Amino acid sequence: MSNIELDKLLQGNRRALAKAITLVESKLDRHREQAQDILEQLLPHSGNSVRIGITGVPGVGKSTFIEAFGLYLIAQGKRVAVLAVDPSSPVAGGSILGDKTRMEELSRQENAFIRPSPSEGALGGVAQKTRETMLLCEAAGYDVILVETVGVGQSEYQVAGMVDFFMVLMLPGGGDELQGIKKGIVELADALVINKADGESEVLAGKTRQHYNNAMNLLRHTSFWTPRVMTCSALQNNNIDSVWGMIVDYYFQALENDAFATKRARQNRQWMHQLVDEMLHIGLARHPRVREILPALERDVAEGRATAYGAARRIMDAFQG
Ligand code: GDP
Repeated sequence: MSNIELDKLLQGNRRALAKAITLVESKLDRHREQAQDILEQLLPHSGNSVRIGITGVPGVGKSTFIEAFGLYLIAQGKRVAVLAVDPSSPVAGGSILGDKTRMEELSRQENAFIRPSPSEGALGGVAQKTRETMLLCEAAGYDVILVETVGVGQSEYQVAGMVDFFMVLMLPGGGDELQGIKKGIVELADALVINKADGESEVLAGKTRQHYNNAMNLLRHTSFWTPRVMTCSALQNNNIDSVWGMIVDYYFQALENDAFATKRARQNRQWMHQLVDEMLHIGLARHPRVREILPALERDVAEGRATAYGAARRIMDAFQG
């Protein structure tokens, strides 16, 4: 990309942003190098946003919620980017998050940018590309980034590891196990938001909220923030403003406790280590000498002629030597 195009991106030009994202998502090594170059140049202009992760089982109302929430934020003068991490797309060929007409009204807004999940990711997977796209969106002046994911595989963990605030949308009634929410996800959440608190479900939603409030109070919280439980109706636009109010509260408390920058720094460090691990794996698998000795070593270990440790040592010696 030319300097003129980079300037355009910094001014918020969508076409320039889309072009940079295409480079980030490309499988070609040449494009990846260009993308890294762009990202390093834009890094000083990134980071000025609130990054919010949203997860929940299919049908809980993620897209309805994001549409309502996004429109509310735009009415508050924000520029909103919606990104998705949908790990199902490369495997199944179709994607859970991308296959319906979603967020129609939001997508028509001048101040909204909606990007479906990258279809596949080489190094670091789909989440890596979403992380980089998030930086590009920040450089282009988006001040709220919503990262949506559906609870498949590792995606929620990855999204929780790239955002400032992680939110789990839930249905009225039943515990998380009944709702099909994976174990451990609720513990990651900064907030549980029980959607569809309207009509006949309103009372039940209140009970569910109480249930989780009690459960949350039993957990021991080491951080400055005690996760909150709320109800809302994305369809009727109820309590959407309170969800934002809660996130603003979190933001200021995090700043006060010096936790905002610390969390991002930790996430960046973890991200780097994860990439190093992956690069090492790829390097090892491609190493000519390792490839040469591996089949015999595998046989030796399987047939009891060598110990696993001894064989692993020889592989590492070949790799490093
Ligand atoms: P997603 O799969 O999590 O993205 O869920 P959708 O946003 O597609 O919503 C699934 C269904 O639930 C749709 O028929 C929505 O109209 C409905 N829905 C979403 N939010 C609400 C809500 O707050 N109240 C009610 N009653 N229905 C809702």
